[in-house]
Amino acid sequence: MPGRLLAFVRAPSSSPKSDHQKLDKHQKDVIPLFPPVYSVNPPPLHKASQESLVMDAFKRHSLGGRHHADKKSPKVEPQQPVRMDMLVESPPLVFYNSPQTSTGALFSGQLKLDVSEPHVTLEKFEMRLLATVTTKKPVVQHCSECSTQITEIHKWDFLKAPVSLRHGMHAYPFSHLLPGYLPATTHGSLATLDYSLSVVATTSTGDNIKYGRQIDIKRAIFPGNEKHSIRIFPPTNLTAALTLPPVIHPIGDFPIEMRLSGIVTNKNDSQTRWRLRKLNWRIEETHKFVSPACAKHTSKVGGERKGILHEDVHVIANEEVKHGWKTDFDQGNIDAEFRAACNMSLKPVCDMDSPNGMEVKHNLIIEMVVAEEWAPLKKPNQATPTGAARVLRTQFHLVLTERAGLGISWDEEQPPMYEDVPASPPTYVDDYDIAHLDDEASSLNI
Ligand SMILES: [Zn+2]
Repeated sequence: MPGRLLAFVRAPSSSPKSDHQKLDKHQKDVIPLFPPVYSVNPPPLHKASQESLVMDAFKRHSLGGRHHADKKSPKVEPQQPVRMDMLVESPPLVFYNSPQTSTGALFSGQLKLDVSEPHVTLEKFEMRLLATVTTKKPVVQHCSECSTQITEIHKWDFLKAPVSLRHGMHAYPFSHLLPGYLPATTHGSLATLDYSLSVVATTSTGDNIKYGRQIDIKRAIFPGNEKHSIRIFPPTNLTAALTLPPVIHPIGDFPIEMRLSGIVTNKNDSQTRWRLRKLNWRIEETHKFVSPACAKHTSKVGGERKGILHEDVHVIANEEVKHGWKTDFDQGNIDAEFRAACNMSLKPVCDMDSPNGMEVKHNLIIEMVVAEEWAPLKKPNQATPTGAARVLRTQFHLVLTERAGLGISWDEEQPPMYEDVPASPPTYVDDYDIAHLDDEASSLNI
């Protein structure tokens, strides 16, 4: 894929790096699967029939839309006694804050039934909200049940008993507070998560009238306080203190402030000091997915409720900072301020973490090359490079999320409909993080 600088799937024999120690226990490649995808799980339908149901519904929708627009035409498909359309009334679906604290988003609208015959009797009229996870790394290639899992999130049953509808338009309002713990719609490099509505109306003559529609759920995590992090680089005295924004967004840049201290070591009549020669940053995006096996193929992963962990790490932005840092040998500090941003052409994907093992996370990696100089204390301006240099590499967790102002918060802009659900204020603790550098600074000559 274009722009993927680093891409790998964790193979059974690969040795995880120290910063991936969490994965050590997964080295055998087969790991237990997490709890079911969502905590609200109605009895599962037969997957194949669900899938075809959704596909049929989408096909119908794309055709139906055109027919609907052509309302003046007297031609009406004789085999379709009812046409369906949907009017979504709620604002774009944005979950605010983390899955643990989000109040969710209200989804509401009307299903419109246009009855073209004098009378139609509906036996059943149902709508399902489905979550569809599709992986590009199925346990068994070309097995659609290994590739795709469909979970019903919610079901609306519009009829308690059969109903006879007259010719004309009939509206069925619906509304539902989508729970904020649902992971957002995500199109990752290993797997995709999509939400869709699947509507089926069954007439007394046995006709199934279908309608389908994709819905997009976004998540926006409110920014809290700035994050302060410190990294030390033994065996040198160098310490990097960084100030980072609490969240970053796919579009727009963000500031990074860094102070490198401990750059000067004084001896009797001389000093050695580090000069910053090179400063690079990059943002790495890590996708993980635990590919489950379908009922037929559980033996491939060593039993039920197990899957294969895949991981893909790629760079979504990188740059060399050419200038913009100040060196103060008297204080022993280097101060750098620069701005970073995701590269939109590399299609950054927001953070997500689903109980089914789908995950997207981000790290900022800062790499510095420092070169050592020696100077007599009496003449500190007459410095001579000693030839020693080090690469300082360190990483910081970043949260990539949609901008909070992107959608309209249902609890702020909509007339109150769910008064019992309070708007939750952002709850953040100051994230102060002190850590040793895992990677040893390596020497090199420049
Ligand atoms: Zn299978």
